Parts: sequence; structure tokens; C-alpha cells
Amino acid sequence: MSKKVKDFGIEKTLKNLGIKDENKGTSTGGKYFASGKTIESYSPVDGNLIAKVKTSGESDYDKVLETAQNAFKEFRLIPAPKRGEIVRQLGQKLRQYKNDLGKLVSYEMGKSLQEGLGEVQEMIDICDFAVGVSRQLHGYTMHSERPGHRMYEQYHPLGIVGIITAFNFPVAVWSWNTALAWICGNVTIWKPSEKTPLCAVACQNIMNEVLKENNLPEGISSVLVADHEIGQKLVDDKRVALISFTGSTRVGRMVSANVAQRFGKSILELGGNNAIIISQDADINMSIIGAVFGAVGTAGQRCTSTRRLIIHESVYDEVKNRLVKAYGQLKIGNPLDESNHVGPLIDTDAVNMYQEAIKKGKKEGAKFIVEGEVLKGKGYESGCYVKPCIAEVKNSYEIVQHETFAPILYLIKYKTLEEAIAIQNDVPQGLSSAIMTQNLREAELFLSHAGSDCGIANVNIGTSGAEIGGAFGGEKETGGGRESGSDVWKYYMRRQTNTINYTASLPLAQGIKFDL
Ligand code: NAD
Repeated sequence: MSKKVKDFGIEKTLKNLGIKDENKGTSTGGKYFASGKTIESYSPVDGNLIAKVKTSGESDYDKVLETAQNAFKEFRLIPAPKRGEIVRQLGQKLRQYKNDLGKLVSYEMGKSLQEGLGEVQEMIDICDFAVGVSRQLHGYTMHSERPGHRMYEQYHPLGIVGIITAFNFPVAVWSWNTALAWICGNVTIWKPSEKTPLCAVACQNIMNEVLKENNLPEGISSVLVADHEIGQKLVDDKRVALISFTGSTRVGRMVSANVAQRFGKSILELGGNNAIIISQDADINMSIIGAVFGAVGTAGQRCTSTRRLIIHESVYDEVKNRLVKAYGQLKIGNPLDESNHVGPLIDTDAVNMYQEAIKKGKKEGAKFIVEGEVLKGKGYESGCYVKPCIAEVKNSYEIVQHETFAPILYLIKYKTLEEAIAIQNDVPQGLSSAIMTQNLREAELFLSHAGSDCGIANVNIGTSGAEIGGAFGGEKETGGGRESGSDVWKYYMRRQTNTINYTASLPLAQGIKFDL
């Protein structure tokens, strides 16, 4: 651990979370092992090495799968509300570790401390939600057409749920999946992003405490800290009943095809290209707050980040001028310092993609009204800090159709709401969308069948963020998956229809007679 890391008080956080200078990245319970190569986790905040993790190798993989298979046999027999009790205890532990885990998320991923703490709060919220759902895993009962018969549907656990996650929500997405998967009676294996391995080790440490305190078998919650090759193995493995994949559309496309090839189930949570429509009837103050937070929060690295503003021509200049003014006041720097608004991108590859997108946009005709720039000098030594920028564009530009995971905001002008909705929908992705308006007719049209084609459609709230309770996910190239709320527990179970005959005869279907 370098001396600088100590300066941010991170040393104590790592100690509290059980993270050492050198860690092993495979665990099926209390024990850790790992036979793969070592990866080093550098903070995008200051460029310093935080700690090393030995990744999972091929031999670890089979051990984890076998342990999970055995654990499932036991775990599925525990009544659902009792499994809910395990999840309740995880929620309690997360309350206890909230400050440390939130700080680690901020330091390893680069989002602001407030957002790091918010991410852990989402974990707590999904645990609370899942505890309630654990008493409501219900099916329908229907009337049979045959006398003396009862027919109903019930749900059974699937088995092993593989969870592959992206770097930008390094802890919450794991909990969204695991909390529901567990109450449904499944066991989980997590392949986190190799860009945030320490967050995964910390979560597994917390979960291991819960498993130990309840004397539960190893293999209910496992982690494989590894690169994409182990992810690919999990995707191709017939023993894994469901793959919940969160990441880019590029990788999700392959994951989807490969899981389908073996008739596995998948939940896909892929890229977004989210827009806010700002109408002539919008509250402009609210619109500016929603747009700026949505575009620069997490340095534009949320799947729900606002990437496009579709603005009515009558308020276009006002919105544009106020945005330029607001961007002029943004403070960019260490995300652990609450006075900063924008932290770093995850790594220098992401910085290169930001620069490439700006170059490409300019070539296509984008007019930058707030220029982008890679920041250098004191406080920016990691090379990951960039200036949020704004460009006036046409929606048809190739770069506008593409999700660039950086704070680049595109402005597009419209005349009629029908035109604005058409522009909003005219991208390959379909995650989050919003309209800012005080006009009921506009709001209802936006939410109607002729409105937004996204999985999330908001009125007078921006595109970014989501609340546990509602199903989260998107359409088209966002993958169609849903997580975290509502009735999504059904994705983690298999449905079975049962018919019971309580008579002394066996009437055959379709009037068929069979004299024996
Ligand atoms: P990524 O696609 O590069 O990686 C995601 C995960 O997939 C990582 O764990 C990686 O190791 C793994 N992986 C890579 N290749 C694989 C393969 N061939 N087989 C199996 N696993 C493989 O994404 P990222 O850069 O970490 O995250 C950013 C992307 O995630 C953005 O597109 C963002 O919109 C998306 N995202 C979507 C949601 C959502 O809910 N819709 C949430 C968060 C992030």
C-alpha cells in the first residue's frame, strides 16, 4: 500500500473491510483461494495502487461450481421466509459497514463519496425488499375444466445463478441479484468487473460473516474475481441455470447468444442512451438541475446517465445558456471531497474513448459549446479526470447513436412533442427517458403507447438513478432484462403447473376414450 493511500484515511477502511495488501479472489464461503494471475487495483482518484488480488484460475472454477451445486441441494430445502432472514441479516451487516464500503466504492471506482454511500443504501433497500418478498412467492390457482380436479402454478428455485457485473456499480448490482436469487432458493456465483476487484472481496467478506454466524454450508454465495475468460466459462456452463449479465451491449450480445445456445436463462442489463425532453411548458430550474446531475453525475458513467437533451425551440437558447453557466461552475476533483461535483473516469482507456468520441463528433459536425479537455496538474495525477462538455448535434450522427461512457451531453432542438418523442426513441438503446413539463397532455402522451419506448419513463425527474421497488431495466439493445423490484423474483425461479385429480376416475383430455 503506498503512502499516499494512507493520506485519504483509506487504510483504516481497507482494514475494517478485511482487505489486505495481497488478497485471494476466490471464495465459496469462509475460505479464500486462487490460482490465477495477480491483478493490481489502482485508484482512478489518485493513481495509487490500493491492493493486489490473485484472480481465480481454471482449477478454482470447477471447485466453486461443485461447491455451489452441493450447497443448492441443502439451501433449496430451507423455507423461503427463513432464507429471507439470512438476507435480513445481510442488510443489517451492510448498515454496519455502510461508511467503509461506500468509501471503498468511491476510492476504487471514482464516484463521489455520496454516490458510494448511496450505492450501499441501495443494497440495504434491496435486502429489506427481498425479506418481504420471501413471504410472497405466490402462484395462481385456476379452475380446472375437469370435475374433481385442482390446478395451480408454483415456482421452484433454478439452481446456480451466475452474476456478471460492470465496474460502474461495483457492489449494488451484486446485491440486486443475490438478495432476490437467495430468497428464491438459489445459490449465486459472482464474477465482478476486474476493474473493481476489491469491492467484490469486501462484499464477500461481509457475506461470509453472515454465512458463518448462521452455520450455513459453503457455496451459497461465491465469488470469482477474474477477467472475462472466467466470465465466458460461466456463460457457457450448463450447470449455471441463469446468467444475470450487466455490462456493455457489445459483450451482452455475445452473452445472450451463448446462453440461448445452451437453452439457459438470462437477464441482460446493457447500455443506455438516455434523453430528457425539455418542453416549452417545463420548469426550467428543475430541468437544469435534472440535466446537469444526469449528465455529470458519476462522471457520465451511469447506464442511466443523461446523454441527450431534446429541447423545444422556444426555450432552447435559454436552456443552452443556463447549461453553459452551470458547467462553468462545476468543480472537478477528488470525489472523496464533498465540495467537488465531478470525479474521475475509471481509467485512461475510458479517457481515450472520451477523446475519440469528441473527435468523431466534431468530424460529423457537432458544435461544442462547452469544450472537453483532459485535466492535468495537481490533483489530476491519475490522468483520469476530464471536463464535462456539451455539443449541439443532430440525433442521426453516428456518435450520438452510440453510448460513450463519459460526460458528453448532446443538445437537439425540436418543434412538436411528436417529433421530440420520435427523436428520443430513434436510438438503438431503450433504458431510461424523461420529460420535463407541467402540461398534463404532454406528460400523458409521453407515457402512452405512442410515447417513450424505454424501460423507464419519468415525468419531472431526470433519467439517472432508480428506486428499489420498481422493476429496473430497458428495452431494445439494453437487453430487455428487469431487476431489483416489482415481480422480478419470477426471473429467478422456474414455473410449474400442477393438476391434482381427487376423484376415483381418470377422464382424459379432448374426450379421448381408452378402454382397458
Ligand atoms: P463490460 O461489458 O466491458 O464488462 C462487464 C462485465 O463483463 C465485466 O465483469 C467483464 O469482465 C465481463 N466480460 C467481458 N467479456 C466477457 C465475455 N466474453 N463473457 C462473459 N463476461 C465478459 O462493461 P463495463 O465497461 O464494465 O461497464 C459499462 C457498461 O455497462 C455500460 O455499457 C453500461 O451502460 C452498462 N451497464 C448497464 C446497466 C444496466 O442496468 N442496464 C448497469 C450498469 C452498467
